Amino acid sequence: MNLSIPDLIVEADRCVACGLCLPHCPTYRKTGSEADSPRGRIQLMRAVAQEIIPNNTRFRQHIDLCLSCRSCESACPNNVAYGALVDSTRALLVPKKSLSLSLAKPFIRYRKWMNGLIRLLRLLQPLAYSPWLSYLIPAAKLLPKLNKPVRWQALYPATASKQGEVSLFLGCASQALDSATLAAGIHVLNALGFAVHVPPQQTCCGSIARQMGDVAESQALLARNRSSFASDLPILTVASGCGAGLADYLPSHQVQDISAFLMGCDWSQVTIKPLPQRIFVQDPCSLKHGQKSHAAVHALLKKIPQAEVLPLPGNGQCCGGAGAYMLTQADMAKQLLNDKLEAIKTSQAALLATSNIGCSLHLASGLAAQKIPVKLMHPVQMIATQLGWTGHEDK
Ligand code: SF4
Ligand code: SF4
Repeated sequence: MNLSIPDLIVEADRCVACGLCLPHCPTYRKTGSEADSPRGRIQLMRAVAQEIIPNNTRFRQHIDLCLSCRSCESACPNNVAYGALVDSTRALLVPKKSLSLSLAKPFIRYRKWMNGLIRLLRLLQPLAYSPWLSYLIPAAKLLPKLNKPVRWQALYPATASKQGEVSLFLGCASQALDSATLAAGIHVLNALGFAVHVPPQQTCCGSIARQMGDVAESQALLARNRSSFASDLPILTVASGCGAGLADYLPSHQVQDISAFLMGCDWSQVTIKPLPQRIFVQDPCSLKHGQKSHAAVHALLKKIPQAEVLPLPGNGQCCGGAGAYMLTQADMAKQLLNDKLEAIKTSQAALLATSNIGCSLHLASGLAAQKIPVKLMHPVQMIATQLGWTGHEDK
C-alpha cells in the first residue's frame, strides 16, 4: 500500500512508542541504535515528512538499513502498518536514481532479456571456478548451477481427476534461477488434479523496484500482471517475496503461497513416499510476516511419512537476503547470514527447506562459502520428489 504524505504522518502517529517491537528488529539487535529500530525509524519518517528534520544522508542510511522484514509489524500491539510506512517513505522521501536498477530494468521486466542473460552466464559460470579466471566473474560463484531457460507452456493439464484450475506466477528470479521449483509445483498441482495456467505476458512482481524506491516501475509491473492474470483463478506463488508483494498490491486477485494452497487440497489421489529424515524449515519473513502463512509449509512437509519437521533455531530473525538487500547492504546481510549458518551448524541440519528464492540464494552462498554440506530445497520440491518427480529436465 502506498500512502500519501498526510496519510504517512497519520499512520506514524499511531505508534505509541511502547518499544515492544524493538527486540524483534534484526538491525536494532545488531547496532543497538534507536535510529535503526522500528520505533526510531517511524519517528524519523514522521519528522522528515513534516519537514522538522532535514531529509539528509543520515536519514536515508537508517531507512536503507531496514530489511523490510516486517517482524516489527507482527510484534506491534497497535497494528502500526510499518511495511506501508517504509514502502511509502522509500517512494516519497528516498527517491533513488539507481544506475544499477535502471540497467537491471529490462532484465527484470522481460523474460527474453533475463533468459538471454542466463544463457550467457551459463557459458561463463564454469570459468568462475577456474583459478586463473575466477577474479573476472566472482559473482557467478554466488549463483546456483544455472539451468537452461524453460519455455513455459500456457497450460499444464491435470494428470488426475480434475479438482480445479489455478494460475502460476513465475517471478523474475525464480524462473531464471529456480525453474526446478516451478516445475515441481506444476507436477504436484497436476497430480492433485489441478490444471495450471502460466500466462505468458506476466512479469516481475515489482517488489525489488519498490524496495529501491522506484514506485513508477513497480506500478508499471503490477499493471502488467493485473492484466495478464484471470481474476477468477487463484494466483499461486512459489517465492514468498513475490507473493507478499503481489498480495499487498493486487488485492483484486486471490494471491496465495503454493504451500498454503496445497494444504487446502484433497490429497486422496496421490501416495507420498516416506522420507525417514529430519527436515529443518527456515521461515522467510515475507511468508511469516507478509503472507502470514508460514505454518502451512511445516504442515505440508509433515504430510511426508516418517519425516521429522523442525523449525530452524532462530527462525524469528531475517536471514539478511531481503531482495536486493544482500547486495546493497552487504555488511549487515552477512552478519545476519552468519547467525543462520551458526544455527544450521549447531542443529546439524542436513536437509533445509525454504520458500523464498532470495533466502535460498543468500543461504546457499553462505553454505557454499563455508562448505557446510546441507541440501537446500523449496518445500514443494521435497513434496514433488516424494511423489515420484524425478527432477527438472535441463534441455
Ligand atoms: S522491517 Fe525489520 S529491519 Fe525494518 S524496522 Fe521492522 S523489524 Fe527492523
Ligand atoms: S510496537 Fe508498535 S506502537 Fe510500539 S513502538 Fe513499535 S511500532 Fe510503535
